[in-house]
Amino acid sequence: MKKVALAFDLGGTELRAALVDEDGNLLSFSAVPTQAAGGPDAVIRQIELLAAAVAAETPDLVPVGIGIGAPGPLDPEAGVVIAAPTLTGWHEVPLADILSNRFQLPVRLENDANAAAVGEWRYGAGRGARSIVFVTVSTGIGGGVIADGRILHGRRGLAAEIGHMTITNEGERCFCGAIGCFEAVASGTALGRRATAHTQPFDGSMLRALSAEADVTGRNVVDAARRGDAQALELLEAEARWLGIGFTNLLHLYSPDLLVMGGGISHGFDLLHDLITATIRDRAMPAYRDVPIVPALLGRHAGLIGAASLVLESDAATHSETPGLTDPADSDAASSAARKEASNG
Ligand SMILES: [Zn+2]
Repeated sequence: MKKVALAFDLGGTELRAALVDEDGNLLSFSAVPTQAAGGPDAVIRQIELLAAAVAAETPDLVPVGIGIGAPGPLDPEAGVVIAAPTLTGWHEVPLADILSNRFQLPVRLENDANAAAVGEWRYGAGRGARSIVFVTVSTGIGGGVIADGRILHGRRGLAAEIGHMTITNEGERCFCGAIGCFEAVASGTALGRRATAHTQPFDGSMLRALSAEADVTGRNVVDAARRGDAQALELLEAEARWLGIGFTNLLHLYSPDLLVMGGGISHGFDLLHDLITATIRDRAMPAYRDVPIVPALLGRHAGLIGAASLVLESDAATHSETPGLTDPADSDAASSAARKEASNG
């Protein structure tokens, strides 16, 4: 019988749970809006209820452990959420210990972006690679680095805070307080902000016609560009240049086998790709110029699948003589079901 893990993805807006097997398949899934303002107790209660809901769908399966992705900064070794900016009252919460006591199971806590990086590495676009950089470009920019077959953690697990590397000395202030963060110039939010500034309500532009809100979103820009709108294409061109600059830094720093781009803005990956790579060719040193830039494959479930695999892998390590990390090439049979789910989401 296949081993399964209970996985959670704790986000500021949504809390998701799934039972995931060794091939990265989601066997059951449930999600609720996160009671982000309710503090840790309310959210932990939600986690218990979701676990029960997921277990009820698959009563014959017993998980070997729990993997949970949560917003950083967090300490994966200590299992402590340090200070999640999107969750009220989460300061130094020993989430792994709390869940381990409630469920009587081993728990692995990981930064949500790292968990998604692991998911893409083991079951998605990064399968077979030794080193990847995963970048998610949506409301913000996050990411994770797999270096030489393991997650790069750094002190207290704080490494690879990709969205907050400084790449310019001007522009809007980032939510972190600094000027010129990668996230502040290249996130979906930044793209939407530029589109909003370039248009007026009811000006007859396609960008405004597509936007249901007062502001144009990054996703609106991608959709308008896909329909050939000149204004949107111009905005995407600037977006691709910023992404290319950030990615060039990441190639120089981490020298990955490939760079995987996910997040909402990766819906426009085909429109962005050529200009991103042209920017990299202009800026990167020759040895880095041929690193493939590829779209993520697992969509919104990458974090759940990655968090589960951390538990399944450490369970395998304790039950056999083989060293901890599974060779990602072993997971070739991975998850057509998960991928199908992902492409729908
Ligand atoms: Zn910042």
